[in-house]
Amino acid sequence: MKTNRAGDSSLSIEGRYAPNAPDLSLNARVERLRRIANVMRRNVIDMVYTAQSGHIGGSLSAADIVTALYFDLMNVDPARPHWEERDRFVLSKGHACPIWYSALALRGFFPEDELKTLRRNDSRLQGHPIASYLPGLDASTGSLGLGFAQAVGIAMEGKLVKKKGYTVFVVLGDGEIDEGVVWEASLAASKYGLDNLVAIVDINNLQLDGTIGEVMPTEPIDDKFRAFGFDVLTMNGHDMADVLMTLAKARNARAGRPVCVLARTVKGKGVDFMEHELDWHGKAPNDEQYGKACAQLEKTGRELEGAEA
Ligand SMILES: [Mg+2]
Repeated sequence: MKTNRAGDSSLSIEGRYAPNAPDLSLNARVERLRRIANVMRRNVIDMVYTAQSGHIGGSLSAADIVTALYFDLMNVDPARPHWEERDRFVLSKGHACPIWYSALALRGFFPEDELKTLRRNDSRLQGHPIASYLPGLDASTGSLGLGFAQAVGIAMEGKLVKKKGYTVFVVLGDGEIDEGVVWEASLAASKYGLDNLVAIVDINNLQLDGTIGEVMPTEPIDDKFRAFGFDVLTMNGHDMADVLMTLAKARNARAGRPVCVLARTVKGKGVDFMEHELDWHGKAPNDEQYGKACAQLEKTGRELEGAEA
């Protein structure tokens, strides 16, 4: 029988990284986030290599976005994962959960060592996130489109029922917006004026079976979300300063309408032989590929440390 395993670990764990201090300069915030994002990417590679299963490409395309949220923008507290006032995060493209798990571990929601248990039968880190298993998960996701619908529901509760000030951030894949439920939920978000909802579409131009254009052309995505009542912003999803400032603007808009942020990204970003490669949607690296990926990320890490000095 499955039990609620999240209760096991409400101990306070010191994460490797605290969030950015509010008095840091923008430059210092950005540089620090870039270094953390690189560690996040390395964790993803380690996890999927160890499990020999999982989704690297879409984890790496979302890495900078998730880093900016968890290590700067979102108001969360690892010691109180169910704190009522916290901002909420939903990774609607749930298959990319290695990046979500990495953020939660590095912030201290659970021990980082547990990342290596990804996808094991007895693990709290399943191949698609199960909220009752792990502290910090605000929704169980993986059935595409449904995470977004849950995020809309959470935003409705926050704004209309509990009347709390929290923001709900939800990340969708560009392939995911093929799902009809995304547009049904968008109608509701607009109808109820959910300006506490920030939908971020990770537009890496690839999905499981091919390019977005081949599988189901969805452009112009900006016009579609506008037609459904969203304010729309666009950013380069790998330019940390742009990510930080655009997401802050989206969070602070509160203009009576939900906000959609279109993030232009690269699938597999950070490891050159994985970038733009459909093959890396859901494949595990072999020993040689793992070695190469680690060497690249370590080199990037050294360069980022050098930039700081
Ligand atoms: Mg995609």
